[in-house]
Amino acid sequence: MSGRVALVTGASRGIGRTVAEQLAAAGHRVACLASSGGAKDTCRDLEASGASALALCADVRDAAAVDAAFDEIEATFGPVEILVNNAGVTADGLVARMSDEQWQQVLDTNLTGAFHTIRRATPKLLRGRWGRIVNVSSVSAHAGAPGQANYAAAKAGLVGLTRAVARELASRHITCNIVAPGPIVTAMTEGMPEGWRATMEATVPLGRLGTPDEVAAAVTFLCSDAAGYVTGAVVPVDGGLGMGH
Ligand code: NAP
Repeated sequence: MSGRVALVTGASRGIGRTVAEQLAAAGHRVACLASSGGAKDTCRDLEASGASALALCADVRDAAAVDAAFDEIEATFGPVEILVNNAGVTADGLVARMSDEQWQQVLDTNLTGAFHTIRRATPKLLRGRWGRIVNVSSVSAHAGAPGQANYAAAKAGLVGLTRAVARELASRHITCNIVAPGPIVTAMTEGMPEGWRATMEATVPLGRLGTPDEVAAAVTFLCSDAAGYVTGAVVPVDGGLGMGH
């Protein structure tokens, strides 16, 4: 499985950064994208460990910026063969008080952003007759979560997007799958209200929060040759919170 060209969105920290590290360790050339300059730090560390990496600063909500990022990857490494749509945000609030901006920001980043990258990657994936797409959803997609109507809708939308794309691309040996994390220790969950972590630890059957490494391991497997017969799947990494849903 070595030597493919991979793109990881949201690779400046948290789960995306760890996915980039694991794909680089598997021998891939990894393009790391984030909307701030943070992907540069990830790439510096990957290169220090002997990997080939490319830092990209682009907002996944902006189709033109995504296209330009792909142009740069193609000029540097060649066409993207492995695409991990991990960039995500939350903007929580009870539905009755949720602003249009809160709704739109979360839908645009978590769902439309994945559409932008998949649309741009697909023609060259089809030509290459091999590909791996992994979209990072959430346990909230099927369980819902109070205060996260926007986030749950976006993450559930990713499941539909994934399964439509999986069917469209299957004949060319291109798979498209979901990894659905439960609560994972990252900057995203550090911002949760007081007491949230203790509640989670009491609710999750395995009794703890997960780590970015545990999510990245599932993503890396789905990106491998060994996962060639898995497509349209939702793989939970949630400590049993969704019991397989
Ligand atoms: P995080 O630490 O907040 O990292 C989010 C990443 O997305 C950052 O690299 C951020 O970089 C990037 N990003 C945000 N908006 C972007 C945009 N418009 N364009 C490009 N990049 C953007 O989050 P995380 O916890 O690692 O979460 C990663 C993914 O897992 C997300 O999709 C999240 O919804 C999902 N997830 C997380 C958990 C959890 O408990 N942590 C649970 C379930 C699902 P910049 O800020 O530099 O742009």
